[in-house]
Amino acid sequence: MNIHQEVNELKGEIVALRRDFHMYPEIGFEEYRTAEVVTKYLTECGMEVKRVAKTGVVGLLRGKETGKTILLRADMDALPVEELNDVPYKSKNQGKMHACGHDGHMAMLLGAAKVLSTHKNQFKGNVKFVFQPNEEVTGAMDMIDAGVLADPKVDAAFGIHLWSPLKSGQIGLANGPVMAANEEFEITILGKPGHTSAPQEGVDPIIIASTIIQTLQSIQTRETDVLTPTSIVFGRIKGGTARNIVTEKVEMGGTIRFLYENEESGKKELLGKVERLVKGICAAMRAEYEIKFIPSNPAVMNHPEIVELVRVSVKETYGNEGTIVPYMCMGGDDFAYFTQKVPSTYCFLGIGSKDKGSNYPHHHPRFDIDEDILAYGTEVHIRTALRFLNR
Ligand SMILES: [Zn+2]
Ligand SMILES: [Zn+2]
Repeated sequence: MNIHQEVNELKGEIVALRRDFHMYPEIGFEEYRTAEVVTKYLTECGMEVKRVAKTGVVGLLRGKETGKTILLRADMDALPVEELNDVPYKSKNQGKMHACGHDGHMAMLLGAAKVLSTHKNQFKGNVKFVFQPNEEVTGAMDMIDAGVLADPKVDAAFGIHLWSPLKSGQIGLANGPVMAANEEFEITILGKPGHTSAPQEGVDPIIIASTIIQTLQSIQTRETDVLTPTSIVFGRIKGGTARNIVTEKVEMGGTIRFLYENEESGKKELLGKVERLVKGICAAMRAEYEIKFIPSNPAVMNHPEIVELVRVSVKETYGNEGTIVPYMCMGGDDFAYFTQKVPSTYCFLGIGSKDKGSNYPHHHPRFDIDEDILAYGTEVHIRTALRFLNR
């Protein structure tokens, strides 16, 4: 089979699929239309198709004989963003937009499903095509709970994220943690209300909050090796009712992101540092506090064996290795849950091109993708699956 040629012939269809998804974006667990399009397409490819975890879709393609099973994953959800691009395929759903590239992820994977389904006599084992809802929150866990890794048991998982920070065509690939673990937090500083003319009579939680915000930044450079990525950022702060009142409390929240080899012990230590500083500052400044940590994604952890398979697949797709760059980032992705269960690899496929206007950050209202890149993603999916199953 000539995979390169077959994918090339499918290019127009892949782009059309992407544009269709782009025009009708649906946010997490509301991907009903999206799921219908995916279900219909996979069914027409002649595979067993199931709906899993509300709006998730799983297609199972069985090869010529029993063998291992590889899971290929695309996420399906859009974002609550009003699109500002003036393009023929602009979002028709007000206030919703595929601003993260998941429309492209689905199109690439459907392309791979079509090509692989015509070659099921040429591999052993199975390919599980997983279309996962609600990535922006955490839909992967719901799919795993619903049994997506069983029957047949999944032996490896692979996924691609289109990535505008990388130049069009580049592949970001690395071993170990490549997307950060994320822990969210809420901190409430409880002071004592009063008049701003006599703040000494009260306890001002605003000045305490500002001390906490500043001091927690020191964890990243004074309490942690700067070569182990750690990022503490406040995204929300609320307090006060009037300019002349010492307020009673300040509520604030944010994210703690980190990429550690040993995630469990590293996380425990890091959260301990955060609470120690909050507790110490509040004690020193006469306030009470409440702190709550809300676990979000663990890190996306790439397995060296699967990384190697992908590396060879990329080389075959592009004809050279120059397109691969070692890459990791502080963003998170719930593909992390798959990587915790089976040997996996998540790679980044660059779509950033200034000329094509596809260099806006993800989640930006002008985000767009370089559609010329989609066929590469499809081919890497196909080659990685075949390489894993036929080795
Ligand atoms: Zn996103
Ligand atoms: Zn995304």
